[in-house]
Amino acid sequence: MSIILNMKNLCPCSSGKSYNECCEPLHDGESANNALLLMRSRFSAYVLDLPKYIIQTTHPASPQYIDNHQLWEKRIYDFSKNSSFGKLEVLEFIELDTYAKVIFVAHLTQHDKDATFTEKSHFEKIQGTWFYKYGQLMEGREPNLITTGQIRPLPISYYGDEILRKKAEPISEITPSILKLVEEMEETMDASNGIGLAAPQVHHSIRLFIIREPVYDDQGNMEFGKVKAFINPKLSNPSSETWTAAEGCLSIPTIHADVTRPKEIDVEYLDLQGNTIKKRFSGWEARELMHENDHLNGVLFIDRMSDDDKTKLKSLLDNLRKRIHDGTEL
Ligand SMILES: [Zn+2]
Ligand SMILES: [Zn+2]
Repeated sequence: MSIILNMKNLCPCSSGKSYNECCEPLHDGESANNALLLMRSRFSAYVLDLPKYIIQTTHPASPQYIDNHQLWEKRIYDFSKNSSFGKLEVLEFIELDTYAKVIFVAHLTQHDKDATFTEKSHFEKIQGTWFYKYGQLMEGREPNLITTGQIRPLPISYYGDEILRKKAEPISEITPSILKLVEEMEETMDASNGIGLAAPQVHHSIRLFIIREPVYDDQGNMEFGKVKAFINPKLSNPSSETWTAAEGCLSIPTIHADVTRPKEIDVEYLDLQGNTIKKRFSGWEARELMHENDHLNGVLFIDRMSDDDKTKLKSLLDNLRKRIHDGTEL
């Protein structure tokens, strides 16, 4: 929805200030001093049809990043065009040195129907500049999303980082710092909407990973349940029967490819209490385990995709590496 603004117009971000004293300088290229200002200026950019601003301020490794900027701009434009924006309500704002979280309610209607949503959005600072990383959305006004926890997500290692290619070291003792790392890994995984995360993906070259356990409802629909940690896992005895499904990885955001893996596998590991567990896993849980265990051996899911997919995805991967490590698209 376009609005013609003049000096007296209030900023669409509900700050109560005029646009030229609020979000306009940011839209004109000034960088945001904090993540809350960035969040507000992104909201007003949606209201004012400024898709380029949304793209510029999205983290280069965001799972919401779209390589095709034309398509991305069109999606933002369509969203803005079909929405009639009301007020922006900020419920919570936590900012640490390079990570920030903002929970807000965007009041809007689409096609005369209420389309208000609550978003828990995560921001990361790269070389002094805040970027929007990822948002978890819920319909309506959901104050329950407010968290008081101060556990912070950890910086993720991305495709091209050497640690992802190293063989990780066994853990000799489950210390309090290992337990804290597991909590931080859980926060990191959730902040990027992941279902599994291995320690090398957060710059710790040790044999530890977590997964969200798949659970099935009465209708057989899969959801993701509680988090399980695996320490010093040893995989053996894979079934000869295999199956193929699409995988993704928080270290290789936006890339998805089919991977063929055994249907079942035995795993022996230590849980967080130091108990030795031996169990045969199958289906999605086995797939998650094998994907994460590969990370402990310096193997990535893209190594296991078909030669066809390797050829098809090569330019996307090269571009991703460039975007994340050289910032050439920023
Ligand atoms: Zn504003
Ligand atoms: Zn992965």
